Amino acid sequence: MIRSSRGLAAGLAGLGLIAVLAVAAPLIWGGDAAHLSGAAREGASGEHWLGTDALGRDVLARTLAATRLTLVMTLAATAIAGTAGILLGTAVWVSGRRVREAGLRLIDVMVSYPAVILALAVAAILGAGTAAAVVAIGVAWSPAFARLTANLAASVAGRDFVAAARLLGVPPHRILVRHLLPNIAEPLLVLLSVAFAGTLTALSGLSFIGLGVQAPSYDWGALLNTGLDALYTNPAEALGPAVAITLTGVLASFVGDGLAAGADPHRIGISGRLKKAPAPVAAPAAALDDEALLTVDGLRVSAGGVDLVDGVSFTVRPGEIVGVVGESGSGKSLTAMAVARLLPDTVTADARTLRLDDLDLLAGAAPDRLATEIGVVYQDPAASFNPALRIGGQLTEVLRRHRGLDRKAARARAAEALESVRITRPAARLRQHPHELSGGMRQRAMIASALLTGPRLLVADEPTTALDVTVQAEILDLLREANRRGGTAMLFISHDIGVIASLCHRVLVMYAGRIVEELPVEDLAAGRARHPYTRALLDATPRVDAAAEDALTTIPGRPPAPADRPAGCAFASRCALVMPQCAEVLPAAIPVGAGHRAACHVLDQHAADTSTAEETAS
Ligand code: SF4
Repeated sequence: MIRSSRGLAAGLAGLGLIAVLAVAAPLIWGGDAAHLSGAAREGASGEHWLGTDALGRDVLARTLAATRLTLVMTLAATAIAGTAGILLGTAVWVSGRRVREAGLRLIDVMVSYPAVILALAVAAILGAGTAAAVVAIGVAWSPAFARLTANLAASVAGRDFVAAARLLGVPPHRILVRHLLPNIAEPLLVLLSVAFAGTLTALSGLSFIGLGVQAPSYDWGALLNTGLDALYTNPAEALGPAVAITLTGVLASFVGDGLAAGADPHRIGISGRLKKAPAPVAAPAAALDDEALLTVDGLRVSAGGVDLVDGVSFTVRPGEIVGVVGESGSGKSLTAMAVARLLPDTVTADARTLRLDDLDLLAGAAPDRLATEIGVVYQDPAASFNPALRIGGQLTEVLRRHRGLDRKAARARAAEALESVRITRPAARLRQHPHELSGGMRQRAMIASALLTGPRLLVADEPTTALDVTVQAEILDLLREANRRGGTAMLFISHDIGVIASLCHRVLVMYAGRIVEELPVEDLAAGRARHPYTRALLDATPRVDAAAEDALTTIPGRPPAPADRPAGCAFASRCALVMPQCAEVLPAAIPVGAGHRAACHVLDQHAADTSTAEETAS
């Protein structure tokens, strides 16, 4: 959802007036624009406010009448750039690995050339003229759209709801249309408005140097060209088209900046449909914990009538780090995003309780409190920061909007935050764009951004997955420090049980949309995990202290698609301990130690055997 702002409103209103002018001006001033008054190159006067051109035609009337052709050309070039770029970006994403890598390299090369240079090359091939100029500029701007589309699609493609759609057997083109494009529409919209300003300037430039619109047609660039001849005798002749180009470009920039700020991708936006569960859902209610900061009870997330997360219940205490681990498609990220109220629009969620202290997250929680009390760190910092905005603008936005700080105070606070995550020269970094920072530095900046408002809960969705091992260790250190220093509670998502064990206090193991085991990290470290799936995950994790002959095992098979989840245990088809009742009866979570619960029939059996032995002995 994009929020409105004064800049956005002013930009849209201004562009609206220019659009009206484009329709009306040729009808009203078309005659004056073509009338040969016989008074060539006259200066500004009461009759001709901007003077006349070399043939005695009124410059102001011609500037106004040129609005239509200029706008039509700009819109056409922007449409070509957007359509070609988005098609190229999506084609790259749906291609095989080799074609995708080659396509991405090609796009990178095209992006590295300034758009105007690329446009000149295309225009030189196509020849001078209006259509050629429009195509040249459209082609020149398309790599920017292609790269943004490919990057965003790759990032969204890693999310759990896309993995679940794949597991459901949804074909790639439907995943693209239903799941990817709706989730990347906002940044593309922002780029469209930026591209509009860019194509306007570039088209005017081509006409100015004689490669664009040819006489007798004229746009603002062509008028600027003729005005240049009279720059010393009647400077007002160049003033009209120059002001028109500048004003329209600035208004389009207002729209772009307004859309970018309103679409702030790393917080604030509340999407997805989250509601109170109308009836009891699958899992039993979580044991009430009076000290809980976050209470999730009976959370269910569905897409197309299929439950991707099925009745998940857990709590997080103040200052506690709770890890959620599981394979792709286990529902761990959807659970985290439901807590942060950042679910994609394509899924719905309900729960008996979803509460952060006294804040009811099911009741359309106050956006201000939500934005300041929950911080989110995403997996891919390249896609979480808006590529079109400087780091400073993105970090200060939340402080200005939700903490009421002025620009100077917000920048000082943002610089401090960058310093606290060990980013050198923080003031200079604030002036940089996300692509100028390394991957590790971007992730540290994302952590700084998430902690800026002093949130009580940090939701970290696979924050180390996209990073190399040394940077991973740095990020984990930073999160530990934030937890130790500020007492920030965390919900930490990862598919790597080793990372979870090194950071968290308590661990939730998810499989096929359900929590199958919940245990303190001490039990995990001491090899006291009880569920066969948790044990299989541990056996499949490389260990530095492993003996050479200890072979690394893998978990055979794949998790079932959410639509094909069996009535009983979803792990049954992969479990070495499977028993006859496993496929039919859903195992309930039972206590197996202090703060330790697991859902497995083997444990039921063990508990029954133990109790029989005790009864016999007594
Ligand atoms: S319930 Fe059965 S299939 Fe499931 S983990 Fe336990 S033993 Fe394995």
